[in-house]
Amino acid sequence: MEQRFESVPLPPDWERRQAERVRKNEAAFKAHNERRKALEQPIVGPDEPIPFVCECGDAGCWDAVDLTIEQFDQAHATAMRYAVKPLHVMPDYERVVAQHESFWIVEKFSPDQFSSDTTSMATLRSASP
Ligand SMILES: [Zn+2]
Repeated sequence: MEQRFESVPLPPDWERRQAERVRKNEAAFKAHNERRKALEQPIVGPDEPIPFVCECGDAGCWDAVDLTIEQFDQAHATAMRYAVKPLHVMPDYERVVAQHESFWIVEKFSPDQFSSDTTSMATLRSASP
């Protein structure tokens, strides 16, 4: 059964993304961004955005996402959260937890976590603003 949790628009090239099933190592991209943060932190102001690399699941995506250090830390509040460019979402594996102008925050879930569990669907809905 296919069901969308939220009315998040799909990227225009969603079918390609879904068809390819090419998954980059998102943890490695996150680690890259962490190093970038460590380098930039001493020289940028707290409100100054840093061009991080999109942490979406598309192996061919090296797009920049601008986050301040504070936004970056918030985006990674839990280990399962990633900062991606708007629309760079893989709804089969992740859900959008926050939408900002220059980036979105997605949270991974295991593919079978929500497929048949209507209780967590309800929890998810009530948790949304
Ligand atoms: Zn991306």
